[in-house]
Amino acid sequence: MEQHRADANESGANGSDANDPGVDDPGARRTDVNGAEAHRSDARRTDTYRTGARRAVVVGAGIGGLTAAVALHRRGWRVTVLERSADLAPVGAGIALAPNAQRALDVVGLGDRVRDLSAWQGDGGMRTPAGRWLVRTDAAAAAARFGGPLVLLHRATLVEILTSALPDGAVRTGTAAVVTDPGDDRRPARVTAVAEGAETEWEADLVLAADGIHSATRRALFPGHPGPRYSGRTTWRVVVPAPGRPFAPHETWGAGRLWGTQPLKDGRVYAYAMATAPEGARAPDDEKAELLRLFGDWHHPVPEVLAAVDPDRVLRHDVHHLITPLPAHHRGRVALLGDAAHAMMPSLGQGGNQAVEDAVVLAHHAGADGGFTPSRALAAYTADRLPRTTAIVRKAARTGALTMLSAPPAVALRSVLVGAAARLGPGFLLKGFDGIADWRPPGGPARPDPSA
Ligand SMILES: Cc1cc2nc3c(=O)[nH]c(=O)nc-3n(C[C@H](O)[C@H](O)[C@H](O)COP(=O)(O)OP(=O)(O)OC[C@H]3O[C@@H](n4cnc5c(N)ncnc54)[C@H](O)[C@@H]3O)c2cc1C
Repeated sequence: MEQHRADANESGANGSDANDPGVDDPGARRTDVNGAEAHRSDARRTDTYRTGARRAVVVGAGIGGLTAAVALHRRGWRVTVLERSADLAPVGAGIALAPNAQRALDVVGLGDRVRDLSAWQGDGGMRTPAGRWLVRTDAAAAAARFGGPLVLLHRATLVEILTSALPDGAVRTGTAAVVTDPGDDRRPARVTAVAEGAETEWEADLVLAADGIHSATRRALFPGHPGPRYSGRTTWRVVVPAPGRPFAPHETWGAGRLWGTQPLKDGRVYAYAMATAPEGARAPDDEKAELLRLFGDWHHPVPEVLAAVDPDRVLRHDVHHLITPLPAHHRGRVALLGDAAHAMMPSLGQGGNQAVEDAVVLAHHAGADGGFTPSRALAAYTADRLPRTTAIVRKAARTGALTMLSAPPAVALRSVLVGAAARLGPGFLLKGFDGIADWRPPGGPARPDPSA
């Protein structure tokens, strides 16, 4: 087994130097991409860092893990991201980023790049499957209320922006990791990673578990927690060339079904759908055929989008959420973030946004005052994040229940109420995002607020 050892920190979990008994063969020295000196023997290897920079190991290179890696790297941490997938390119889906996540990305210097490569969500609205408009959304009103626009980009673009802000070699793909010891103020955390059959042990001042909704780290640290629950809904996502005929961006609510079509900046469109379904159910033929059965007779542009879908490129995922909150978002030197900490239904489009918020809040506390005492920093992280994300998980579940109503009288009443609410003005509907989209990162604004 290889060993990678973190450097000293002031709380006692000190790394080693070349005299450390864990170093087997000082003669076989090398320098790795992070500037670490490695000492190698046939049996195992220990890396000793020359500088005093603290070491963070991130498990999972999704949006949460990558943003956290960038945020810590900018604060001078040595960061290694361990990702079990062979590559990082997420296929076939867009992601909407509200002003709250954009402000977090401003903190790490990436907000403008993200906005440049995104489509700004213009005026559109909510419709019935026959095409009647229930609500017209007002992008200008939303931007004025929340301090900026909602933007949409391809996930692969976001991943590319985040990874390009990290040093070469910081992300190790094809590497499955397990937290073997969460550590404490006096003892480093330990992570064992397996890549191409070889095992490596990492010691770290801080571990970020961003390993997604089915997080093994969460199960290990909180064995009594019931874990994610199936929401009763399944989703589909596709990215296809824009339909020939113009359309307005929309989200359309039917009985126990929903479809949204939104433009990407590159001329393609991102479409998503949700329906009530038993857990694990899959189309008997293919998912395009299933989408045609469920949505094929809905208003323009749905049939045109469906016609362009390649059945092999439809993403289908059942939606699970952590409706029971964790008792904390950390244990020892390990912080959970993103879906690992607070998976939610996509009904508010906030799962990824909250992961991005987590990342900058965590880096804020980890880097505070130039010192790092895990128990203090991570307790502050939990205190900031747990109440906020718990409230948003619950709100997403309530909104999800409303969008998925299926009994005809309830669907009819919903249309009447939504239409009546819309007539009260855009502010009434936007109120639902108060306290969410207007969030500001700790430490003051990273760029001037255009609404101020
Ligand atoms: C239909 C749908 C639409 C959505 N739309 C939006 C939206 O518009 N806006 C928004 O903000 N959110 C949206 N979300 C939610 C969003 O996708 C998630 O909240 C977000 O991707 C979570 O990011 P994450 O980094 O926490 O986890 P993930 O993206 O799941 O990343 C976890 C990573 O960890 C890796 N991993 C797991 N275990 C290990 C291990 N042992 N070792 C190494 N690596 C490991 C995985 O391979 C993966 O790469 C949507 C979700 C759905 C289902």
